[in-house]
Amino acid sequence: MAKLRFSALKEVFKREPLVTQAPAKDVSRYFGSGVFNMHQMEHYLSKEAFRFVKKAVNEGKSLTRQEAEQVAIGLKGWALENGVTHYTHWFHPLTGGTAEKHDGFIEMGENGHMVESFSGEVLVQSEPDASNFPSGGIRNTFEARGYTAWDVSSPVFIVGTTLCIPTIFVSYTGEALDYKAPLLKALTELDRAAVEVCQYFDRDVNKVIATLGLEQEYFLVDEALYTARPDLVLADRTLMGLQSSKNQQLSDHYFGSIPERVMCFIRDFECEAHKLGIPIKTRHNEVAPNQFECAPMYEEANLAIDHNQLLMDVMRRIARRHRFRVLFHEKPFAGINGSGKHNNWSLATNTGINLLSPGKNPKSNLQFLTFLVNAIKAVHDSNDILRASVMNESNSHRLGSNEAPPAIISVFLGSYLTSILDELVSKVTDRKMTPEQKTELKLGIGKIPEILLDNTDRNRTSPFAFTGNRFEFRAVGSSANCGAAMIVLNAAVAYQLRNFRKEVDSIIKEGRNKDEAIFQVIKKYIQSSRKVLFEGDNYSREWHEEAERRGLCNIESIPASIRCYMDPDGRKIFTESGIFTEKELESRCEVEYEKFTKKIQIEARILGDLAINHIVPTAITYMNRLLENVKGLKEVFAGEEYEKMAAADREMIITISGHISEIRKKVLQMIEERKKANVIEDSYRKSLMYETKVAPFLEEIRYHIDRLELVVDDEIWPLPKYRELLFTR
Ligand code: ADP
Ligand code: MG
Repeated sequence: MAKLRFSALKEVFKREPLVTQAPAKDVSRYFGSGVFNMHQMEHYLSKEAFRFVKKAVNEGKSLTRQEAEQVAIGLKGWALENGVTHYTHWFHPLTGGTAEKHDGFIEMGENGHMVESFSGEVLVQSEPDASNFPSGGIRNTFEARGYTAWDVSSPVFIVGTTLCIPTIFVSYTGEALDYKAPLLKALTELDRAAVEVCQYFDRDVNKVIATLGLEQEYFLVDEALYTARPDLVLADRTLMGLQSSKNQQLSDHYFGSIPERVMCFIRDFECEAHKLGIPIKTRHNEVAPNQFECAPMYEEANLAIDHNQLLMDVMRRIARRHRFRVLFHEKPFAGINGSGKHNNWSLATNTGINLLSPGKNPKSNLQFLTFLVNAIKAVHDSNDILRASVMNESNSHRLGSNEAPPAIISVFLGSYLTSILDELVSKVTDRKMTPEQKTELKLGIGKIPEILLDNTDRNRTSPFAFTGNRFEFRAVGSSANCGAAMIVLNAAVAYQLRNFRKEVDSIIKEGRNKDEAIFQVIKKYIQSSRKVLFEGDNYSREWHEEAERRGLCNIESIPASIRCYMDPDGRKIFTESGIFTEKELESRCEVEYEKFTKKIQIEARILGDLAINHIVPTAITYMNRLLENVKGLKEVFAGEEYEKMAAADREMIITISGHISEIRKKVLQMIEERKKANVIEDSYRKSLMYETKVAPFLEEIRYHIDRLELVVDDEIWPLPKYRELLFTR
């Protein structure tokens, strides 16, 4: 085995950076060339068909069959011109990845010749056998049909020779089996509720979209070393490995110059992404060695998520071309930073206004404060389901450890905005306000600078931070489909805005004027959600204590936090607006419990195997060598002299054999615990057992393996070490 490690290392040292295939300039020439965007549509579609699509996109509706027939004609023309042979409905099942099943364009023509065929029918809807996708009990295997239906708001694109049609994925009986269907509903709700509130300030607003910019962190590992680590191959993270003596202590990787080999990879995947219309803009080294980040310009939320899913795919593919593997896991290596995916989120109107950005005058600033405070209130009230949306097995290794936001969801505003809110609370009176009082209040609000970006302090430790013109939801994991988090955030804010409108309207009905009513409700919201605001260090022990005193919820158990979806308060946010039915919510929880259980089960198996058939035999080999040494010493030396010389070896033998027997014992115990958990029917209870009884063994066994790595001869250690995985490229 050790041979594999050394030949892998040799291979890495031989590598020359692959020449990049990306053109050096003129991104604008090829940007979006693989996308059937509005520009292409205008060219390839009939006037009528183009109108249908535009209308469907604007109104958030789907196309009728006849309309689709017309669109399919133009789309087919474009696709064939671009060398396309197959098409697929591309969707986001609850596995977290994306799914595709390709069908050829060919069909038998009437006179027995093959013809290229692509109809409106297959464009708008398809019926994949979906029995193997997680459904949480919604779909029985005998009723395996699932339906995919085109999401017109996300344009069709080409990967290789395949036409990809972004779709939602629902069961035969109409329940969502994916992230996209409920996300679209949540975004529609948000649009409706936000427009109603905007009407207080500007009658021209008739559409509000959520904007989203996703910063993607990732690790790169050389392919040869990756392949020599079964844990990386199968679990996407290392389950063992002694920390490298040097890792990120010197902070010399962050924003450092990007290594040439990595740069070639980045340029190639950026080029592919640009062709697919993904507006990648930013790239840099991250904190941990071999860790990097890329970020696109923000887009409408649904599109941004499609693009992020697609981007991860592109990166995986291009990485292979460069003999790298890209790791999206939240914590591939212990002891150094993990990866997240910051969700930069805001709201934008059809009139070009960012609702989370202050404006030029008191009126637009009151609108800004309205949306700011409603967002804070939504995070306060929906704390539990927001946490639930980001909690999963892989992210649990990152959350709560000293580098990522803890499981306490708080909001950071910065001292300036906090003082503005405090001032508002102190100035708004509960009685009818005098004109002077109102003028003074508005004057104060009018002074909020238009650009907050520069005078907002940054707090890197907050899970939900205001960064001048948007919120940054930082607790989302790097491997996540952000649909999960964005369904909850947008649903919660929509729900909140609807309540706000109701409350303000009822005060207006009592005879108060509009501004006063808005002030009243905002004041009430600030007071009631004050406890979610936190300016300090979220990683500190004191914050945990303080949060408990404030009554902020901190659930560290993954299954228990997922279960919050079923609490009455969480549930009503989804069910009242029809974003999820009760059944869909239940099924989603089921899927999450199962995913959690299975991931730990897989990791436990991998670790058990590697421990017993890689590590223990290696340790025994080394121990035998020491034993031989002791024997040899005895032959040559005698008495006190021998005793003295053999002492260190003896001690080492005892240490090694101690670790070996601990490993063996614990692997057996872990298997026993799995057996016990596996017979539990209830998936929630089963996942809890896996969390409390099985998962701790992963750490315990690892401890002994890492101790062995420290002492066993490097020449025979079978797995590439951290220093090799992280520093050779
Ligand atoms: P930083 O790492 O300093 O937080 P980055 O430049 O890495 O910033 O990423 C910031 C992200 O925020 C980008 O994707 C950017 O497009 C996005 N963003 C900027 N303004 C908005 C907005 N109004 N709504 C949503 N996302 C935004
Ligand atoms: Mg960044």
